Amino acid sequence: MASAMASCLLLAGVLFAWTHPVFAQETAPWLPRESRVPGGIAWVEIPSAISEEISGEISGSSTVAPVATFEGRRTAMVAQGGRWLAIVGIPLATQPGEHAIELRTAQGPAKVSFRVDDKQYRTQHLTLQNQRHVNPDPEDLARIRKETERSDAALSLFTASGLPSLHLDAPVKGRRSDSYGSRRVFNGQPRNPHSGMDIAAPKGTPIHSPAPGRIVETGNFFFNGNTLYIDHGHGLVTMYCHLDTIRAEVGERVERGQVIGTVGATGRVTGPHLHWGVALNRAMVDPALFLKDTAR
Ligand SMILES: [Zn+2]
Repeated sequence: MASAMASCLLLAGVLFAWTHPVFAQETAPWLPRESRVPGGIAWVEIPSAISEEISGEISGSSTVAPVATFEGRRTAMVAQGGRWLAIVGIPLATQPGEHAIELRTAQGPAKVSFRVDDKQYRTQHLTLQNQRHVNPDPEDLARIRKETERSDAALSLFTASGLPSLHLDAPVKGRRSDSYGSRRVFNGQPRNPHSGMDIAAPKGTPIHSPAPGRIVETGNFFFNGNTLYIDHGHGLVTMYCHLDTIRAEVGERVERGQVIGTVGATGRVTGPHLHWGVALNRAMVDPALFLKDTAR
């Protein structure tokens, strides 16, 4: 594969053509739906002029795809229809307006801009029995800080092996909430917005890996309860919270459909459900954008 790519690059260098032969060999990858709002995803096309400059810079290496970053985080890059697309996760806290991904070319840094539209999310009021889940004790706060670091490290991974695969299956059968992005008020006090999808299912329901990947972190967390993280590569990392049991170990490779745990009610919950989070370039985006079947 690497030598085939290297010869393609050589050819591109000789012909000055960035209608890259590798495109013709690939079937179009499945892509998450585009939604250019905070919490959504932007497909950002890399202009061919920039691709040519990058091809000149990287000739001789086995790297084919341009490297782009958004807010300092590397983005997934896919080839489709003879063009490169950066598939960019847009953080919930992003302000509507003009934004840009950055690329390094032989001529220096380049930017490709895109617009993020406004989206108003609902406010959700929830009542919790455990007051410490609303206002944690000082020792809880110390624990939460450590857990936040572990979670952030897992969600920030970018593993660039193989081609990006961005198609996810629903991890659990059950009623899906559309509460992604909701502003949350617990016992009358505003807290962080809801950054994932809740799927209601009885305690003990098996949870399946939505795509191939590797388990990169597990643990019992203060807010998220029993939690597991899967790295799917190219900045796509999924997380599973409030589990009753964890059925996989850190370092283990998992296949699409493999059971990784069971639904529970551990951590800050009002009842048994799976909280499913999807990070793309570290942005927690709406998981529904990755599902072919969008029925609720
Ligand atoms: Zn949730």
